[in-house]
Amino acid sequence: MEANILVVNCGSSSLKLAVFNSRLEKIVSALAERLDTDEAFARIAGVDEPTALPSGASHQTALRALMDAFRNQGTLKQDPAAIGHRVVHGGETFREAALLDEDVIKSITDCSGLAPLHNPVNLSGISATRNLYPHVPQVAVFDTAFHQTLPPRAFHYALPEAYYRDWAVRRYGFHGTSHYFMSREAARLLDRTPATTSIISAHLGNGCSISAIRDGISVDTSMGLTPLEGLVMGTRSGDVDPGLFDFLAGKGIPASEVHEVLNKESGLLGLSGQSNDMRSLCDLADHGHKPSELAIDVFCFRLAKYVGAMMASLTTLDALVFTGGIGENSSRVRHQTLSHLRLLGFELDHDLNNCNGLYSDGRIDSASSRFPVLVIPTNEELVIAREALRLAETTQTV
Ligand code: AMP
Repeated sequence: MEANILVVNCGSSSLKLAVFNSRLEKIVSALAERLDTDEAFARIAGVDEPTALPSGASHQTALRALMDAFRNQGTLKQDPAAIGHRVVHGGETFREAALLDEDVIKSITDCSGLAPLHNPVNLSGISATRNLYPHVPQVAVFDTAFHQTLPPRAFHYALPEAYYRDWAVRRYGFHGTSHYFMSREAARLLDRTPATTSIISAHLGNGCSISAIRDGISVDTSMGLTPLEGLVMGTRSGDVDPGLFDFLAGKGIPASEVHEVLNKESGLLGLSGQSNDMRSLCDLADHGHKPSELAIDVFCFRLAKYVGAMMASLTTLDALVFTGGIGENSSRVRHQTLSHLRLLGFELDHDLNNCNGLYSDGRIDSASSRFPVLVIPTNEELVIAREALRLAETTQTV
């Protein structure tokens, strides 16, 4: 019988599941949201009726309900042969995916201080699947792992060295699975090998980050110790002057509150005063809403500056790649961003850009562009499924 791979992505109040077959084709996916509240609900993709969840359902309850629903639907005929988990922070411990055992779980727990909002929920997903499937090999795939190749000049902050030595304060970078996927997919589309392909990859979703990938290896990235640094995001500010904390303390706003504001009330939402959603802001801007126009302008200008910054880590550039909900769908953002970079020689083809590269192998650059520009739909779930299958096979139970 077919061996299936289950991919689990746990957020603080959400759970995303995807099931792949052994040819790594996705056969079903589902989403549970508002977990641990009385509005908890779950839905299988393509099914109109929601999957019933009890009020206050936990990650574990939702997982069990959705796995039962997959079984009733006939999409999952037996227990999965391998389970892959997205884990946000692997610190300096994990340079690649790891087969879960007690030691690995302890190390992920030890990294929780670096990602207090993420690692504990990822661990609760791991605990739920281990309870449900104690004999199935499980694998952790880390958002930070792909960036563990950053050279010291890119990962060190210019801070007292003891902060790094004693508390591991450094730049880690996130969205690594997506940047990895873009680098491999770009190499494939350009008919090159990953080890000879250098790209700048921009992951633009609710969270946004950009990376320089030289010969298939991450050498710089915009996110840092936490996923707050760098680009403007949906509700996150990205870079600000660290002097802001002291300035606002003088106005009676404590650091903890500034931190909340920088994470949850800033970015596109803060600038526009309306929405964290780029599609809504583009509609508003089209109707003359000036704050939304400003939010898009700041977003694109910051992104353009970072494209330039990433060039400092490369000796050649084979492609600039866009992905994520905004990167894949917003011709406006791509056009506006690259309009700041004419000096570097980026030129878009208007029609290809408007079609999001769908009919041109992802290419959206014009014939006169100095560098190829690509749109590549990201697929982090596929990378997690592939890693889960690869490592589970080393246990020879698949
Ligand atoms: P993600 O986190 O990757 O799902 O991306 C979410 C972001 O993508 C939100 O800001 C959406 O508004 C944005 N997005 C999705 N589709 C479009 C579109 N057609 N045009 C502009 N932004 C879009």
